[in-house]
Amino acid sequence: MNAKLQDIRDNPHRARNYAPLPVVLTRGEGAHLYDVDGRRYVDMMSAYSAVSHGHAHPRILAALTAQAQRLAVPSRAYFDDRLDAFLTELCALTGLDVALPMNTGAEAVETAIKAARRYGHRVRRLADPEILVAAGNFHGRTTTIIGFSSEDSYRDGFGPFAPGFRAVPFGDLAATEKAIGPNTVAIMVEPVQGEAGVIVPPKGWLAGLRKLCDARGLLLIVDEVQAGLGRTGAWFAFQHENVKPDGVMLGKALGGGVLPVSAFVGTRALMDMFTPGSHGSTFGGNTLAAAVALEALHVMRDEKLVERSRDLGEHMLSRLRAVDSPALRDVRGLGLWAGVEIDPFYATGREICERLCEKGVLSTVTHQQVVRLSPPLVIARADLDLALDRLEETLAEMVSRRTPRRAVG
Ligand SMILES: *Cc1c(COP(=O)(O)O)cnc(C)c1O
Repeated sequence: MNAKLQDIRDNPHRARNYAPLPVVLTRGEGAHLYDVDGRRYVDMMSAYSAVSHGHAHPRILAALTAQAQRLAVPSRAYFDDRLDAFLTELCALTGLDVALPMNTGAEAVETAIKAARRYGHRVRRLADPEILVAAGNFHGRTTTIIGFSSEDSYRDGFGPFAPGFRAVPFGDLAATEKAIGPNTVAIMVEPVQGEAGVIVPPKGWLAGLRKLCDARGLLLIVDEVQAGLGRTGAWFAFQHENVKPDGVMLGKALGGGVLPVSAFVGTRALMDMFTPGSHGSTFGGNTLAAAVALEALHVMRDEKLVERSRDLGEHMLSRLRAVDSPALRDVRGLGLWAGVEIDPFYATGREICERLCEKGVLSTVTHQQVVRLSPPLVIARADLDLALDRLEETLAEMVSRRTPRRAVG
């Protein structure tokens, strides 16, 4: 281990809420990252989809620097000349009516929860509106949101938690229908569960939820913070099922890989719940963020990144599914997004990621055994193939170290 890495790794002033891989990055360009020694890596993670446009996209950097020199943070106490073009574009893309900008994904989720609850109180006249969520969900890290997580490590020691949520099995329409009670106001789900290990639900599930919500007068709220903006090979994952949700959360890639930008976009009936003073954020919808996010949307359209995700994703998934290795337990995915589940007999997900890192490929693990692959949508096919070659090699190494050598002679 080099001295720089050791110093940084052991810095006692860094809170230990992450356990980074042993690499010190200093530069990024497109689908490549560079460490402090100048070594190049293929980024197979893109910061959980926050960097779908690739690192340092020239058009996004140009929008960022030009806007930063003009006006960055005037506050929402005033109108500005950038925010409305961004919000209008978000509505056109999602097919929804009204957008409320925030900064992080968790804030967009909190905004959705507030909208749904107020709709429950004011329209449905419920005293205690309840939101159904899916087991295995990931919606962020605020105290309210972790309260309905099924992950012990996210919750442990952080209670007490807010009431008003109930979890149902992910992808199970019948169980969801059975769980609906007199106080249920909304169903809030990820269309594909990312942090749970890239879990793709059965076909027809989201369309079934839409029907169920229509029949029972419930709101359907879809968290596309990770799945949205091209990751699954569609602009939004809900489009795979031709449904129109009442509300959708966006984040991550919305910031073009340079800023935190999120939004909750919904129907007029839902978004009319917000009146002046009822919700806000000092930085949410700032002029700099709006200019960057609008350019990020335009780049995605102009460079056909959604189509790229679909085509490269098909290639990636078919290559992964063709890998014949006992160390591979499962391959799941949609678009340029895959979860590769490793058999713990051969290796932990962490061991795979550390070995990949040595080979110049960066990825991370979720739920101990699932290696996540979500490269920037701009990745060159050759770089994608190189990363998949390294993964195959790594799997073969893990299998051979567990396979007893036959005695010779
Ligand atoms: C990452 C993520 C969030 C939270 O976003 P932050 O920007 O980290 O707060 C919410 N929902 C989903 C589905 C996510 O993947």
